[in-house]
Amino acid sequence: MASLPSVTLTAALNLDSDVRKRHSTSLLLKDKSASVSYQKNQSLIQLNVDAEPKFVDVREALSLLKEGTTVKTSYYVPLLQECVDRKLAAEAEIIHGHIVKTGTHEDLFVMTNLVNVYAKCGVVEKARKVFDNLPRRNVVAWTTLVTGYVQNSQPLPALKVFIEMLQAGAYPTNFTLGIVLNACSSLQSIELGKQVHAYIIKYHLDFDTSIGNSLSSFYSKFGCLELAIRAFQKIKEKNVISWTSVVSACGDNGQAARSLCFFTKMLSEGVEPNEYTLTSVLSTCCVMLTLSLGAQIHSLSIKLGYGSSIPIKNSVMYLYLKCGWLIEAQKLFEGMETLNLITWNSMIAGHAKMMDAAEDDLAAHKSGSTALNMFQKLHHSGIKPDLFTFSSVLSVCSRLVALEQGEQTHAQIIKSGVLADIVVGTALISMYNKCGSISEARKAFLEMPSRTLISWTSMITGFARHGLSQQALQLFEDMRLAGVKPNQITFVGVLSACSHAGLVDEALYYFEVMQKQCRIEPVMDHFACMIDMYMRLGRVEEAFDVVKKMNFEPNEIIWSMLIAGCRSHGNSELGFYAAEQLLKLRPKDTESYISLLNMYISAGRWKDVSTVRKLMKEEKVGKLKDWSWISIKEKVYSFKPNDKSHCQTAEMYKLLETLLDEVKPLGYEPVQYMEVIEEEKGDETVFSSTIYHSEKLAVAFGLLNLPKATQIRVVKNITMCRDCHNFIRFVSLLTGREIVIRDSKQLHKFSNGYCSCGGFGDLL
Ligand SMILES: [Zn+2]
Ligand SMILES: [Zn+2]
Repeated sequence: MASLPSVTLTAALNLDSDVRKRHSTSLLLKDKSASVSYQKNQSLIQLNVDAEPKFVDVREALSLLKEGTTVKTSYYVPLLQECVDRKLAAEAEIIHGHIVKTGTHEDLFVMTNLVNVYAKCGVVEKARKVFDNLPRRNVVAWTTLVTGYVQNSQPLPALKVFIEMLQAGAYPTNFTLGIVLNACSSLQSIELGKQVHAYIIKYHLDFDTSIGNSLSSFYSKFGCLELAIRAFQKIKEKNVISWTSVVSACGDNGQAARSLCFFTKMLSEGVEPNEYTLTSVLSTCCVMLTLSLGAQIHSLSIKLGYGSSIPIKNSVMYLYLKCGWLIEAQKLFEGMETLNLITWNSMIAGHAKMMDAAEDDLAAHKSGSTALNMFQKLHHSGIKPDLFTFSSVLSVCSRLVALEQGEQTHAQIIKSGVLADIVVGTALISMYNKCGSISEARKAFLEMPSRTLISWTSMITGFARHGLSQQALQLFEDMRLAGVKPNQITFVGVLSACSHAGLVDEALYYFEVMQKQCRIEPVMDHFACMIDMYMRLGRVEEAFDVVKKMNFEPNEIIWSMLIAGCRSHGNSELGFYAAEQLLKLRPKDTESYISLLNMYISAGRWKDVSTVRKLMKEEKVGKLKDWSWISIKEKVYSFKPNDKSHCQTAEMYKLLETLLDEVKPLGYEPVQYMEVIEEEKGDETVFSSTIYHSEKLAVAFGLLNLPKATQIRVVKNITMCRDCHNFIRFVSLLTGREIVIRDSKQLHKFSNGYCSCGGFGDLL
């Protein structure tokens, strides 16, 4: 094969700008350097500028055509363009008929244009027919057809045409090759792309700007960052698109620092960033949470004239929200002249993200409620939400245990027709699971048209969390039968199902399956499940044996679990040992200290108590603030222990006392000596009375205000204490109500005197 005359060909393909403007058949590529225009062949087209109509009305012009008026060739061009602009396939056919009648179908330029028109109007089969009957085929004609298929989401026929083209001896241009790379990436085939790359190297085209740009973004899409960077480096004359593609390649592939490095280099080489570059850098700032840099980029974009760019404003707003700059973000939001879906999505997702970054749970809860309010407003604005909106909203509902809003969102998802989407389906399962509605989760799972590892895992974990161990294990077997390979997280679900039900043999079996059949090394969470299982069964020594078998040091969570277990099974010797180990780790979590304090206080070891307190001061551990929330009719009510600030305080306290009297005969024994501390007033530590712990108040409030037979759902920021767990178990029996409490570690679904956690809560 002869070498490809790329440079001369490209030059020949470019019409002079004046003609191009009129005959624009823009192929909608953001890379301007890669655009081709139709070859102007003076001998074929007698281009008479005066003959072109100034104002094009297709219908009027068509009526002229119908009368059989003879027109010049160039008359067709703006008419065809009009068909493209307004997607008039039927009109194009009439023009086509006229072209045939006047014998203009011998004109390659007009006919290639027609191929483009049909493709752009979505009738690519007609485009193919015209192409097949072309008097000759040049590279523009071939490229037009390839592009037509790619733009109509038919990458496979596009590649077939490309191969036909090579076999016919035509040489692709850099634009053709860019389009073919697009086809390979739509087909998700890196292998085909690599073959195209080999062709590019063979003809020494990898130095070309537009080809380098295409290659760089192609490899980035497949996560091959190093190949993307190499393609970028090969480019001789790097333009703003080249730089933007490498900046976003690094950002998209999790190398934020490198992305910023390229950006700085770009600026130092005097290349002015465009809107895409700036948006990409801003999203990198979001990942790195670098507010100051983000603010600088924002002012740079204003300086460069992108002050009113909506994508940039959206990115800046999202960054501000993620970094907790609520007021600034709100200002930007309110200053927007038009609100599009992306703006709403940034605002909703931003508030959802603020939940993670919130200082305390109350603030997190507030952000979540704002996100849901935003979603309501979006709904009223008439703009239709999309996948991203629904995913954010469902994650907020999960965190808030806001089942009603979750259900409403589900209904909207059905209406909008995106239910079939796997991401949305999985988010629904997770929402129902986390809100304590396992039957709805199962329904959503069964309704999914196809399932991924994540949806299987999410459902298995859901069953385990609800104490439905047999269903969890059955589903795991179904999943293996379906040929889906489990991962680490799936096994955490499986093992926790075993631990809930005390299925020691099964746990040991799956622990081995995981390592031997699935070749997954056990991590901390797997060992934690095993330890939890032995502790629930009171087999304290076996729990410690698991620790010995671990080939790494147990973490804070495992030692705290061991301490709690030892304390509840009265094995103080091992308990003190575990406590010493925990102290050595200098824990960071307030709840770890609480378990230590509780143990030493109940043993009366006051010296150790003061050692723990000293360490708490040194580690600057925050105070353990006990909060619970309940939402009723979309309004959120929060409770502190001994809270007397609510309007129904008297009724709530009276109800609690009555319940206390009524559950005692059922077998409830109040734990008088609970030691959980909540707050310190000055130097004096106040020991709270278990009777008025926040979740008890929230449940009482729910009982007073929610209709009978309605589930009561409470969120608690720390782990429930043993006494509250026990008490609420009996309340569920006494009142016949289902009560769901999600604390910092577990979901507890109380019903008829039982809790879904399988007695885990009684150990604390
Ligand atoms: Zn409590
Ligand atoms: Zn429980």
